[in-house]
This record gives sequence, structure tokens and C-alpha cells, in this order.
Amino acid sequence: MSQVLFDLPPVPTIPVIGETEGYPIGRIFCVGRNYAAHAEEMGVEVDREAPFYFTKSAPNAVLSGATVPYPPGTENYHYEMELALAMGQPVFQASPEEAWAAIYGYCCALDMTRRDLQIRERKKQRPWDLGKDVENAAVFAPITKSDMWAPQDTTRIHLDVNGDTRQDATLSELIWKLDEIICHLSGFYHLRPGDLILTGTPAGVGPVVSGDDLSGGIDGLSPISLSLRG
Ligand code: MN
Repeated sequence: MSQVLFDLPPVPTIPVIGETEGYPIGRIFCVGRNYAAHAEEMGVEVDREAPFYFTKSAPNAVLSGATVPYPPGTENYHYEMELALAMGQPVFQASPEEAWAAIYGYCCALDMTRRDLQIRERKKQRPWDLGKDVENAAVFAPITKSDMWAPQDTTRIHLDVNGDTRQDATLSELIWKLDEIICHLSGFYHLRPGDLILTGTPAGVGPVVSGDDLSGGIDGLSPISLSLRG
């Protein structure tokens, strides 16, 4: 059947450095608490039992440079600066070698979060959707392809709000490394091109308000920005 009853709003595609065609956003997986100092500030003990995940809907994605409204239903909207992986090959039950080979590229991302709702639901042992799968709350900067950039332990990841640095760490602090995340997650999903994985945020998360300008960076990748207005 080729006819549809109505059209859905288009999901943005992420620009790729050096390419004229964009990277279409499929599924958005997010790793929870993947930097020890952030787990601590969230009042949770770090463990190496297994990584855990939540997801965001592709229609809730926006591109770096966007101006978005302060979301409804929260009084504590937080930024989380993250390194995102963009998958380029189908992979299932990946070995570490297959995991690295399946990465198309990397980009800066923001996992914007209604923290008050996330914590309220967490305390009630309910899902985090209201806190995490928020409209305009998955922000992506342009992708750098994996033949142009590779993560190093010394790679700095940081986020500034109105010019003040709030998050500042290196990728050495990742609890689950990038290949470990893909190996684990691909045991549960047939990962495929279009899948994006946000790999967790370092310490220093905090609230933003309407009027704030966020800007973040990861050494060697295209920077990310977001403005909250209204
Ligand atoms: Mn996050």
C-alpha cells in the first residue's frame, strides 16, 4: 500500500562532514550513568554489572543550532553533553572487532532531560519516558566519519552554559567503552544504519532556563549548540 492517510512531520537528518547527503535518524539508544562521577552526583552507586539503556523517539530529535522552547511539565530541565555513535553496518551479537567496524561516525549530542520527572518516576520504579523522551530533547551536531576521527582516552568532552563551563571531562572516564556498549546492546537489538547511541554524560549536569545558550564540544568533532527561548 503506497497511499497513507496523512503525512508525519519529517525526522531531521544529521549533516555528515564531507558528504552532501544527510544521515537519517532511525532509533536513538541512550546509555544511563556511564561516567562514575555523574552516577555519584545522581546519588547512585556505580556498578559494572551491565550497562542499561533508555530510548528517545526520532521525531523528538533536533539539530545543533536549534532554538527550542522550554518544555512543558518540568521545573528542572537539565542538559547532558554526550558522545554519540552513528551506526553504519548491521550488527547483531557483535564481537569487539565487528563493533568498531560497524561505527559509521561520531557526533556531539545533548540528552536533554526533565530531571524532576525522571527522578520522580525512578523513585516509583516506573519508566523514564516522561523525563527523557521529551520533544526537541535529542540534539545532534554534524557527524564526523570514523575514518576521520577516533576516540582517545585524552579526548575532552565539555559543555558551557552562557559561556560558563559546567561539564568538563575526558573519554577515559567512560565506564563502558564504546565497543563494549555495541557488543552488549547488539545482544538485544539487530543494530543497523540509522541507529544512534548516546554514550552517557560526565559529571556537572544541571538546570537551564529560557534564555540560556548551551554550547558543547568534543575534541576534533563539530561542536554543538542549543538555545532555549520561550
Ligand atoms: Mn544521558
